Amino acid sequence: MVKSSVLGYPRIGADREWKKALEAYWGGKITEAELHAALRDIRQANWRKQQEAGIDLIPVNDFSYYDQVLDTAVMFGLIPKRFGYAGGVVPLSVYYGMARGTDGATACEMTKWFNTNYHYIVPEFEDTVPTLTDNKPLAAYREAKEALGIEGKPVLLGPLTFLKLSKGYRPEEADSWLNRLLPLYVQVLRELEREGVQWVQLDEPILTGVLDEADLRRLRGAYETFAAAVPGLNIMLQTYFESAEHYGRLIALPVRGIGLDFVHGREGNLQAVREQGFPQDKTLGAGVIDGRGIWRAALGEKLALLEELSACVPQDRLIVQTSCSLLHVPVTTSRETGLAPILKDALAFADEKLAEVVQLANGLGGRSEPFEAALAESGRAIEALRTSDDRNRSDVQQAAGRIAAEPAERSLPFRARRPLQQLHWQLPVLPTTTIGSFPQSAEVRKARQSWRKGEWSQANYESFVDGQIDIWIKLQEEIGLDVLVHGEFERTDMVEFFGEKLAGFAFTANGWVQSYGSRCVKPPVIYGDVAFQGPMTVRETRYAQSKTALPVKGMLTGPITILNWSFVREDVAREHIAYQLAYALRQEVEALEKAGIGMIQVDEPAVREGLPLKLSEQAAYLAWAVKAFRATTCTVKDTTQIHTHMCYCEFHDMIAPIEEMDADVISIETSRSHGELIASFEHHTYPLGIGLGVYDIHSPRVPSVDEMTAMIDRALRVLDPSLFWINPDCGLKTRGLPETEASLRHMVEATKQARAKL
Ligand code: GLN
Ligand code: ZN
Repeated sequence: MVKSSVLGYPRIGADREWKKALEAYWGGKITEAELHAALRDIRQANWRKQQEAGIDLIPVNDFSYYDQVLDTAVMFGLIPKRFGYAGGVVPLSVYYGMARGTDGATACEMTKWFNTNYHYIVPEFEDTVPTLTDNKPLAAYREAKEALGIEGKPVLLGPLTFLKLSKGYRPEEADSWLNRLLPLYVQVLRELEREGVQWVQLDEPILTGVLDEADLRRLRGAYETFAAAVPGLNIMLQTYFESAEHYGRLIALPVRGIGLDFVHGREGNLQAVREQGFPQDKTLGAGVIDGRGIWRAALGEKLALLEELSACVPQDRLIVQTSCSLLHVPVTTSRETGLAPILKDALAFADEKLAEVVQLANGLGGRSEPFEAALAESGRAIEALRTSDDRNRSDVQQAAGRIAAEPAERSLPFRARRPLQQLHWQLPVLPTTTIGSFPQSAEVRKARQSWRKGEWSQANYESFVDGQIDIWIKLQEEIGLDVLVHGEFERTDMVEFFGEKLAGFAFTANGWVQSYGSRCVKPPVIYGDVAFQGPMTVRETRYAQSKTALPVKGMLTGPITILNWSFVREDVAREHIAYQLAYALRQEVEALEKAGIGMIQVDEPAVREGLPLKLSEQAAYLAWAVKAFRATTCTVKDTTQIHTHMCYCEFHDMIAPIEEMDADVISIETSRSHGELIASFEHHTYPLGIGLGVYDIHSPRVPSVDEMTAMIDRALRVLDPSLFWINPDCGLKTRGLPETEASLRHMVEATKQARAKL
């Protein structure tokens, strides 16, 4: 029999019970014992589901109280001194302190998990001696066995990936850190072996990236150590998110299993297996069911893939599994009663994927009647959506094709547009503006809810929004800002707002996935051809402009951000969908311009998130991403000023693509990249308008005029003052009114002082 396996299961619960329990505990509403009980129930329910679905190798220790990387650091006692840990069992206050900060200690850094939207806590190595605080994988294994009779597969973050994701040590210290960590890994694994564990999954996604010789030597050393220390344990060395970069070296390691991603690294991994074969002494974990996409699998194609693999690996050494942990997909489609059946039938969330894994494992072992039925049903569902009208709009497909073929250039280069814009806008030097949103007070959120529930009429809601715009236009004028915004009071989320107004999008009721900590997101689903259906932002923007003589910036979300923050159909290239989005948004840009709006900001905070893991694919992605942005914005008049905004990322390698976007003005967040961003302009003259955030909006603290002056001075040392804009780091919607107003007043004051010095 071919075995089935899952790499990890969503921890949030079908109703986000996990989030609710964590937040109740943090808010002091439940006790620690109640938290443990609530999380145990979720954890065991998750195991039960996998057991009932018939999964052979059920992951344990994939569950977490916050994040699996944090768990690994805490398990090894790698707790920065500022959290006051004094040895012994790690208290929850220390654990959550590392994740979220305490009164006296700032939280550990958080960053994106490879190219997903999941964020992990970055382990910090100090001069602490790592020690095993708790064998969490063992506890999980025992619990699954005792509670449900499950022979679980403990999942651990592998040593090389753990080392490389951690910070606080110099490159030359890597070996000594690994040497300190390996005995602890061995201790954990020995205890698992002694307990009778069969398979352990060691996650090494870092192996899908390029590694140097030293890392490959460390990898080999680590797994040789394990092979010698725990000969009885079957180690599955698990890679995911891309094809393995060093396949030949990988399959030579002394482990019993190698797990490869045959969804996101399909071509590379298949080619490697075809050309180099697969070793006789190992099991292949074939990740054929997409752990991060939401679409139903084409079982026929998956079966063909598995059959091809079984030509190289006999079936008793083949495990059918998900491509990565199911952490990245929502729990179940069964609650999605509001979706059109043609769409719902074509979706598979975590629970549906469990069934697919089992069906394929059974089907490979011998085709049976139930398998044939599943095969037929999957083919029918996929075909129905593929041939639906929503996926076959030749008008937008052709328009996207045209955009792909055109140069997408504005009629004049920046150099020539600039004097025309200066003449037209007559802005002061160092113009001040904001990024778009203003505080979304409880009142604003309540109004939106009343409108959504139908308690408020459209007219009622619109006049409420207009009232907010009135208040903020007055306030912005009074504070002395030069370029105003309407404040985005009508929007909850910058992607959802546009998705709801464009064709081709669907919204799930419960399609939540964990983003970081207890924060979950519910990405829109781009299931069909994307099309403009009428102006989306014109009413509010025009209203705001009617209330002031100063320019009001229109505010849109860009094509790449919408794409990267959605679940996207897979029957056409992402590039093509980006152009469909660009075409739709271009129509909005043109509608704004026609309504008399002459400054339009198209936000692209998520461009870098779509960057492929493989270096060789990055240039192509950036080329079409930049082009989609330009296609959105290139048809406007010379005097119309295009703005964009970016945040949430490291910018050091993004300056060239940003320049290519050809926006008249870009505002960039600086708080996360600190001085590094400013430093990257030292050797590079940025030739377009640019604003580097002069204060961090992520904290309620009101920065002083002097702090902002210091930021401005630093930036002006490397940037042309005649091109420099003054603005906060990001949108202000999560801030309160008093601190927003006070900070903006300081910003305007700092600007006045800076102007006086020019
Ligand atoms: N215009 C958006 C806002 O101000 C931008 C948000 C973002 O950069 N993430 O909220
Ligand atoms: Zn931002």
